[in-house]
Amino acid sequence: MSANDPRLKSFVDSAQGSDFPIQNLPYGAFSTVNDSKTRIGVAIGDFVLDLAALDGAGLLPKIAPPGIFYQPTLNDFMALGPAAWSGMRLAVSELLRHDNAKLRDDAVLRQRAITPRAQATLHLPIRVAGFTDFYSSREHATNAGIMIRGPENALQPNWLHIPIAYNSRASTIVASGTPVHRPKGQIKPPDAPPIFGPSRRLDFELEMAAIVGAPSKMGHMISVAEAQASIFGFALLNDWSARDIQAWEYVPLGPFQAKAFATTLGQWIVPAEALEPFRVDGPKQEPQPLPYLQQPARMNYDIDLEVDLRPGGSNSASTISRTNFKYMYWSSAQQLAHHTSSGCAMSVGDVLGSGTISGPEKGMYGSMLELAWGGKEPMTLEGGVTRTFLEDGDMLTMRGVARGKDYRIGFGEASGEILPAT
Ligand code: MN
Repeated sequence: MSANDPRLKSFVDSAQGSDFPIQNLPYGAFSTVNDSKTRIGVAIGDFVLDLAALDGAGLLPKIAPPGIFYQPTLNDFMALGPAAWSGMRLAVSELLRHDNAKLRDDAVLRQRAITPRAQATLHLPIRVAGFTDFYSSREHATNAGIMIRGPENALQPNWLHIPIAYNSRASTIVASGTPVHRPKGQIKPPDAPPIFGPSRRLDFELEMAAIVGAPSKMGHMISVAEAQASIFGFALLNDWSARDIQAWEYVPLGPFQAKAFATTLGQWIVPAEALEPFRVDGPKQEPQPLPYLQQPARMNYDIDLEVDLRPGGSNSASTISRTNFKYMYWSSAQQLAHHTSSGCAMSVGDVLGSGTISGPEKGMYGSMLELAWGGKEPMTLEGGVTRTFLEDGDMLTMRGVARGKDYRIGFGEASGEILPAT
């Protein structure tokens, strides 16, 4: 039976109908008060299943060397390749089934290996090798282009031919929940020389991260199909952005410090295999992409996304955006294939940011730049507070769920609070 079979049930009762059913099994890194060493687990219902503990008890298959999950990142496991990812997921699924007594009836091991998620502290689950941020939502690129250049030239001439991207910083990708200090940088006031100071137009970008699990060799280009198979999984991503710093610095080489200060990765990496039932066609690509970018199958994903903003000093959050990953013009597989097209080597633990995910309507935009239209149309939140950009004390939380007929696949959250500039 496939690990995606909708009939599967877990003996962990809270799994059924939750964001973390037995068909999900997303990976995370966690520690507890009783064991402060960060190790790898999977979310199941209201719990984390400790893979290091299962390994120690001899319950995991020999496809991975012992101790592979008793470390703070998934990189060594990802490096084993797609057959191991699939084999391990199936083995963990089997151990969690309601009709398998092995773990279910071992009270001592269950006590050790199954921890309430509320008692677990989550950490960054990968060692980020590189971070490339794409710009692949046509709606977002069009909105940003209208604000910068006007509606006639909103999309640059290359946009429909190339998945546009820039090389960003791996060093400042942080775990969900990590506070983010307002960045400082050069800002150019109109009709005055540039100043150096805290950003006044601090924004978020709602994105998905594709996590590269299979490396590619320098000098070797991979196909879109090979790229799809090289993606270990997906997580939420907030690519925090300082619009005023960006506006002054981005000519001619693209964003630099405006996005280098912090990027928040979501709590859980959902295996690409768990998302197979949610693959859909993306928007029609016209003109037809060059042959190396053509897709042999559906490679977008139907994943509902939302963004909550809780203003500093308030206890209530407002949902400011609801959109879907399926709107992306270029898929993650096309992005990855393009990334290797020059012979660029990809590494285990590379993160590909999808680019800001904006849908076709207002309310479906993935940044405050678009939601409040460059500061011209302030958003009104619950309690009457207004926002054009993020203020100190604001808490931003992203969530994602793929909804099927029989179950849903959740991503947990990617959250961060804005602290004053240091
Ligand atoms: Mn971005």
